[in-house]
Amino acid sequence: MERLASKQEVRQAVAEARREGKRVALVPTMGALHEGHLSLVSAARDRADYVVVSVFVNPTQFGPEEDFEAYPRDIERDMDLLGAEGVDLVFAPTPEIMYASDAAVTVDPGPLGGVLEGAVRPGHFSGMCTVVTKLFSIALPDLAFFGEKDYQQLTIVRAMARDLDLPVKVIGCPTVRECDGLALSSRNVYLSSEERHAATVLYRSLRTAETLVLDGERDAAVVAGAMRDTVASEELAEIEYAAVVDAVTLEPITALSDRPARALVAARVGGTRLIDNIALEVG
Ligand code: AMP
Repeated sequence: MERLASKQEVRQAVAEARREGKRVALVPTMGALHEGHLSLVSAARDRADYVVVSVFVNPTQFGPEEDFEAYPRDIERDMDLLGAEGVDLVFAPTPEIMYASDAAVTVDPGPLGGVLEGAVRPGHFSGMCTVVTKLFSIALPDLAFFGEKDYQQLTIVRAMARDLDLPVKVIGCPTVRECDGLALSSRNVYLSSEERHAATVLYRSLRTAETLVLDGERDAAVVAGAMRDTVASEELAEIEYAAVVDAVTLEPITALSDRPARALVAARVGGTRLIDNIALEVG
């Protein structure tokens, strides 16, 4: 497995793989890898002949008050995990390599980028779209793998690939969870043991929504209200949003129907901001 920091070297390595007729997959990550990331790598391995993983904590998708500096980084451990997964190439650039000091052009995620996470984290999805576009244009993958854990991100990347005619197939992978339902996240290391216990409230609120819908509730406001109540029952958790939206447009819905819907929740547990989501299916 190769580790490269230079865009040019990545281009050359991928071009070489292509010359050999290989199908190329990209898995973008911010490192501090866990089983959730590795599930994307394994899906990529299944469907491609040459797997590139990027490890880059992208400064432009963090707000000024957010945890860019504190974000966990452990490239040596990440390399060990990726080596064991049979990854071909790790692209681990520095911010200075990724961005020219006078870089000014960015990708606008459009209305999908202004709701939910985008409403709480202004600029986040523009930063994400810009870095993902750059990664696509550096690695030129046939396939790119993203987790449903970041459902809005996945939705926006799909829309971006379609709307900008990017020649890449975007593949979503299911959320990997701990036994008690907590979605794996690099930020879970911030949680104290008490907070770690309380953090299961996000998944519990999603399960509450799922159960209500399975039991016949069709009023989206009632379902979202029940999610909010569940989070409110946990003393250490503070809700940011609980929403029931159309799974494709991310627009709020009033009633659940045959169209796919998604429940999304964001909350702070202690100082740590966590997000999660689940599909809501009628019938
Ligand atoms: P991150 O390193 O947090 O930017 O995540 C990199 C990729 O891994 C994104 O596509 C995430 O959606 C995905 N991912 C993160 N956590 C999980 C998880 N628990 N299950 C599945 N995919 C995940």
